[in-house]
Amino acid sequence: MSTSTRNVAVLGATGSIGGSALDVIARHPDRLRATVLAAGCNTDALLALCVRHRPLHAVIADASCYAALRDGLHAAGLDTQAHAGSEALDALAAGDACDTVVAAIVGAAGLSSTLAAARAGKHLLLANKESLVLAGELLMAAARDSGARIIPIDSEHNAIFQCLPDREDRNALRRIVLTASGGPFRGWTRAALATVTPAQAIAHPRWSMGPKISVDSATLMNKGLEVIEAHHLFGMPAERIEVLVHPQSLVHSLVEFVDGSTLAQLGLPDMRTALAVGLGWPQRIESGVGRLDLLAQGRLDFEPPDLDAFPCLALAFRALQAGGTAPAILNAANEIAVSAFLQGQVGFLAIPALVEEVLATLPPQAADTLETLLAADANARQLASQVAATMTIDA
Ligand code: NAD
Ligand code: MG
Repeated sequence: MSTSTRNVAVLGATGSIGGSALDVIARHPDRLRATVLAAGCNTDALLALCVRHRPLHAVIADASCYAALRDGLHAAGLDTQAHAGSEALDALAAGDACDTVVAAIVGAAGLSSTLAAARAGKHLLLANKESLVLAGELLMAAARDSGARIIPIDSEHNAIFQCLPDREDRNALRRIVLTASGGPFRGWTRAALATVTPAQAIAHPRWSMGPKISVDSATLMNKGLEVIEAHHLFGMPAERIEVLVHPQSLVHSLVEFVDGSTLAQLGLPDMRTALAVGLGWPQRIESGVGRLDLLAQGRLDFEPPDLDAFPCLALAFRALQAGGTAPAILNAANEIAVSAFLQGQVGFLAIPALVEEVLATLPPQAADTLETLLAADANARQLASQVAATMTIDA
């Protein structure tokens, strides 16, 4: 088996997943090398990562930051080449400087570079779940056509990936069970959720993550996006994907087979395990994550999700069943709603309300091209912003 160096592009390098990926990469200088680092607009954080990891290329999506990046690299005495803008990002994701891409940009902003990596046949570690929700069929088809292997970097889907046998016999699979921590408001009533603040919503009890996915976890939209993600990754219809709340976040998901076997993957809640699976694949490598001591943990609890308090999960199931552009509309409306909530413009319950209204107003269309999906995304964003502007913080 080859152990030659893997050249890794980390897209979203300054984020939570990006940081975990770079942590695992730095543990294996003999086999992993960060050759491309990309970020949205935080030039100082990107420069600090370049000093530490000495990549060949650094990309900042916000073109107005190009000069600061170039000058900062020069001042630090680095040979790293500076780039800016989304076209440069796509070209580097598809180019020769990397064979492996960690797609860890947050939101639909990650679609273009993820698709570029898939089309170019890269070893693709896919954290950017929104790109699958928005354009899952196209992304999976691009990977099939080019031979790109997609390794999911979402703890649940990575768990399922690990539980599936090599010879993938879809008929042998009965169900996929996605576990959910339940987020910071597990057990709360809908009424109690009306006044929660962004600070409360991003304080996740189990996982340390970026702000957008933390809010998604608090509304259970994250689990809804993950149902759609599982549908695309594993070819499972909505009826065969189940969600189970498991507050300890130690069982990362389960796969049930026709013979009565259920396989699960367990581990501490730390994304470096999933990243090590992807970076080392097909070998297992050290991740820095401690061992799971079930005696110390004591117990594993399971309960059904509360769809009344957390309607986003049901909305996502509905969008998946509606098909076409509906998941893209759901995702776009959610991104706008979460951003408005984080900026203090609307209340927590406005998130499901806004997504529901946008889904009800924009009828889903067949989604056979990227243009159709991007148009649906843009329309949904526009409508969601209009609706959000009419809401108050008490909404
Ligand atoms: P984060 O907010 O911590 O980081 C986001 C990264 O994306 C940053 O580096 C930022 O600079 C970059 N970025 C933002 N907009 C960009 C743009 N337009 N162009 C280029 N770069 C841009 O987010 P995160 O928590 O690391 O999540 C990243 C992705 O991984 C999300 O899709 C999330 O759903 C998924 N994910 C995260 C976790 C987790 O534990 N954090 C777990 C599972 C899945
Ligand atoms: Mg997850």
